[in-house]
Amino acid sequence: MELGLTGKVAAVAAASRGLGRAVAEALAREGANVAICARNRERVEKAAEEIARATGREVLPVVADVATPEGPAAFVEATVAQFGRLHILFSNAGGPAPGRFDEISEEDWLKGVDLTLLSAIRLTRAALPHIRRQGWGRLIYLTSVSVKQPIDTLVASNVLRPGVVGLAKSLATQLAAEGITVNVVCPGYFRTERVEELAQDLAKRRGISPEEVIAEWEAGIPARRLGNPAELGDFVAFLASERAAYLTGATIQVDGGYVRALM
Ligand code: NAD
Repeated sequence: MELGLTGKVAAVAAASRGLGRAVAEALAREGANVAICARNRERVEKAAEEIARATGREVLPVVADVATPEGPAAFVEATVAQFGRLHILFSNAGGPAPGRFDEISEEDWLKGVDLTLLSAIRLTRAALPHIRRQGWGRLIYLTSVSVKQPIDTLVASNVLRPGVVGLAKSLATQLAAEGITVNVVCPGYFRTERVEELAQDLAKRRGISPEEVIAEWEAGIPARRLGNPAELGDFVAFLASERAAYLTGATIQVDGGYVRALM
């Protein structure tokens, strides 16, 4: 299938590793010029170099913290300064503090609002004027299956991520006639560095091995395995493509069947 992404410009936030990086790589492989951001210069530059080498596309590394008021705008402006325009925004950030309600402090809540909710709003505010100028665009928000089925030990995610769905749904209606689609992607369990670290942390606390923790997670997933980040990247490349022009306002889980809800 020809995705029609050649020459398009994408800004992929929080992408020195994990799902963001897999999305950047999938878009670059399909011919897009990609900018990625993260907070650590060395890591973001290394990731950009590796993606460029693997795909043959230009990949711009930008040092930006998306949880700050100025980080999202700095990222978008650097992207447009380099490539001259912008078509695709992939909104992503690290996850908010884990825990049940009693374990989340006032400070964690405030940080979570900046990291999870305001980052999406600020990235959109910075990117939308540029995307509108193209008369064609894609806004894609990474959230979690927690927006469809709350997770007992991730209450901040359950509370803050649905706000991103509200943002996306509002924008989808407003922007459809301008050729801009807006969708939300909800990953289940993917084997990223973060998930490996979570497994190691849980294993230490419970006195079992990380493999046993992962086996427990896999038992709760109908596909009986964690996702490969490239599988999420490929789906996002489709959503970003010309082929998905009539797909907007959707909140779609990519989770091996983990979510049991009807929709
Ligand atoms: P990860 O830790 O492997 O990667 C996160 C990336 O974001 C890194 O490149 C990191 O440098 C960057 N980052 C973090 N905070 C940032 C900030 N403030 N500004 C700029 N860059 C920042 O994590 P991941 O597994 O890829 O997860 C990405 C997002 O998806 C997180 O919000 C996570 O909670 C969510 N999620 C992940 C899974 C999964 O299975 N991996 C499932 C559901 C939801």
